[in-house]
Amino acid sequence: MQTRVRMRYEATTMEEREFSVSEAPSVPEFAAPEERIMKPRRAAPADVVRPTRAEVSLDALRCNLHAIRQKAAGAKVWAVLKADAYGHGAPAVARTLERAKVDGFCVALVEEGVELREAGITGPILVMGGYYGRAYEEMLARRLTPVVYDREHLETFARLVRARGGEPLAVHLKVDTGMARLGVRPEEIPAFAEALAAHPELRVEGLMTHLASADAPTTESLEHQQSRFEATSKTLALLGIRPTYRHAANSAALLREMARYDAVRPGIALFGVAPTIDGVSMAAGSGRDADLVPSLRVRSEIIALRDVPAGETVGYSGLFRTSRPSRIATVAMGYADGLARALTNRGSFLVRGKRAPVAGAVSMDMTMIDVTDHPGAVLGDEVVILGRQEGPFGRDEITLDELAAHAGTISWEVLTHLSRRVPRFYREA
Ligand SMILES: *Cc1c(COP(=O)(O)O)cnc(C)c1O
Repeated sequence: MQTRVRMRYEATTMEEREFSVSEAPSVPEFAAPEERIMKPRRAAPADVVRPTRAEVSLDALRCNLHAIRQKAAGAKVWAVLKADAYGHGAPAVARTLERAKVDGFCVALVEEGVELREAGITGPILVMGGYYGRAYEEMLARRLTPVVYDREHLETFARLVRARGGEPLAVHLKVDTGMARLGVRPEEIPAFAEALAAHPELRVEGLMTHLASADAPTTESLEHQQSRFEATSKTLALLGIRPTYRHAANSAALLREMARYDAVRPGIALFGVAPTIDGVSMAAGSGRDADLVPSLRVRSEIIALRDVPAGETVGYSGLFRTSRPSRIATVAMGYADGLARALTNRGSFLVRGKRAPVAGAVSMDMTMIDVTDHPGAVLGDEVVILGRQEGPFGRDEITLDELAAHAGTISWEVLTHLSRRVPRFYREA
């Protein structure tokens, strides 16, 4: 019966030391084996043949937590580690932040909460997605804190708590103040409070909302949501519900020093990215924010190199045509690795400390770049897709904002698209 599928944690340093999986606490088995939550497995660094990898700086994470703490001004900091910690690998990121004394964690899915518990995380974990499916019991057994906004949530959790006996279950109530995605609408709060009162097995520990436009050029929408949130909080207090933690701020609100209440829920800022307002980074020129340090670097190598005469085409559909005798390098990273195909003929990578433009279509496993202006480039040269590089031609950096702009998307999507085919390596520094 002990057939639970365990993930292999990629908490590996550059020396390829793996965290011991046996350190993870053993967990009770609930569901039938075929119903158990399976976890994805990504290529482990020790198995890696291809020179393409994502390097996570654990020190950058610690620095960013520190900067966020300053901004939080006394509010608790709950790290949002949904989507595999924005592509960084949730177990290693969570362990690093827990050691650095973060106050708690938020994830979107039950599965993500389970993964953190299996990685040995003991602090509070809030499951924000609101979908518990067949995993209500698993939520209790793993001590995951549910977000509730639906009567079915109340009834099912209350029934399980009654069956289990003991302490009431701490839940966070979600109110929809303008996102129109999840949560109780403010006008329905009195009725929902009545339903809560009918379920003494549940204790409302938190009141939360999510902000739709915290990075808008003006703060009008944010303030509107804030005032609805505060009104809801007052209504609840009159009905005898006084949560310990009121929380609303994502990274953008936090960096604007708004809506901090009792706890903040930063995601992207932990990874060193300040949201942009009107195309300008919130980190630009504003003292303390500049302390955010990008935590991810993506690198590969030149795996093939050729001279191509003028007037020839490069790659699928001949989307690039050489205007001069050119030197074309093949990089071992493509759209199956999470590199947006929209980077076709757009953007550049770093070789020897200088930009080399993408030449032609991004293909599934490889991308070509033009290194005609990089004399001396050879097979095995490092190619930086994201992050800094220093070399004989100087030093430069490809930022997430830049990569996202070229791909016509946002930094969040670039990070979370990095595929499981790219192993994550962890550096202390
Ligand atoms: C993703 C998410 C956050 C964090 O957002 P960032 O913009 O990455 O800081 C906070 N709260 C909720 C409900 C979220 O879904």
